[in-house]
Amino acid sequence: MTRDIYLAAGCFWGAEHYLKKIAGVTMTEVGFANGRTENPTYKEVYTDTTGYAECVHVQYDDTRLGLPFLLRLYLRAIDPTSLNRQGEDEGTRYRTGIYYTDAADEPVARAILDEAQKDYDAPLCVELLPLHNFYRAEEYHQDYLDKNPDGYCHLPHELFAFAERANRTALDLSQATYGEVKGTAYDVAVLPWGATEPHNGHLPYLTDCILSHDVAVEAAQLAWERAGVRTMVLPPVGLGAQNPGQRELPFCLHFRQQTQQAVLTDIVSSLYCQGMRRLLIVNGHGGNTFKGFVRDLAADYPDTFIAVSNWYAVLPAKDYLDNPGDHADELETSAMLHYHPELVRMELAGEGKAHAFHPSGLRDGTAWMPRHWNLVTSDTGIGNPRAATAEKGRRLTHDVAERYATLLTELAHVNSAEELYEKDY
Ligand SMILES: [Zn+2]
Repeated sequence: MTRDIYLAAGCFWGAEHYLKKIAGVTMTEVGFANGRTENPTYKEVYTDTTGYAECVHVQYDDTRLGLPFLLRLYLRAIDPTSLNRQGEDEGTRYRTGIYYTDAADEPVARAILDEAQKDYDAPLCVELLPLHNFYRAEEYHQDYLDKNPDGYCHLPHELFAFAERANRTALDLSQATYGEVKGTAYDVAVLPWGATEPHNGHLPYLTDCILSHDVAVEAAQLAWERAGVRTMVLPPVGLGAQNPGQRELPFCLHFRQQTQQAVLTDIVSSLYCQGMRRLLIVNGHGGNTFKGFVRDLAADYPDTFIAVSNWYAVLPAKDYLDNPGDHADELETSAMLHYHPELVRMELAGEGKAHAFHPSGLRDGTAWMPRHWNLVTSDTGIGNPRAATAEKGRRLTHDVAERYATLLTELAHVNSAEELYEKDY
């Protein structure tokens, strides 16, 4: 539910910039609160004779951000013992205050102020009052520091980075700390899985790991911001199965099925003993297959739900690209240009020309056989990367991440196999 609170924290330019960065805050506007005159202007308030405080109207989604947490963050951005002065700004218009429109918020805020008092010897002088009136300030004051990045601000810049992180669930295990993770009930885990292999001359060996990981993190962020679903993206597994002729190339690593199965089984059993029952494998390497593993795991862990997806095949590549191929092509190159342009060495790219099978039955899909990579391509690429652009990569990966976010949201609350199916035929 959307709720409102009005927070006076000294100069409202910096205060709004800080508060709007907190995840769960859905709208902010700056204005003047609890004064004596009608329709005050900034100039009038500046005289310090109107009784108004510079104030930020904060709207927040209380399913994602609780008032106690919001107020604790608010207190971090002020000196609550300083009367009518914050930073260099002095006057009653710069007083601090919590103004509520719902009387039920008063005891909640009172408790937070009592809690904060224990950290200070001097008495807190933050007002806690019902909101009597609020007038929106002139337009140039709204989002002031977005419009004027070098504009005056009484708050230290570190505080803005802190606010951005404060109410976000840690969702990428490559960066998460135990301090952030402990005490959080995660709904679902995502395991990116790639390979270690040459990708034409221009993409990193770990391309399949990097892209599956980055798509997964984007999806996890969307699922959190839209639906409050807590996802943990595990570090990517770089153990891929390789074709003959690819495996012989320098530092290409082939992992047999038994190795991959053992690794996945150990991951699932670790998650199992931690209580995690939902896993999405996001695969980035065409040589990997997981269905057999997942069927075996379903037998061993019947109350664990494991879904598998090849991220590059979720949406029709031809809707996003001019001439997609198979490997280190326009698709992977575009996605890499989007997420990590610094890792792409376009000047080293080959054309990605490929020889088709001679037997028609292998060409038309009557039967399958692993391709001898060295006989199919001379630069390990299959598909020309030259038409790749970051924008194509952004569109494709974002749409895939949207699909995954929906899936994660739907899987997040599945507790039994029955819940996976529609009731009607
Ligand atoms: Zn690849």
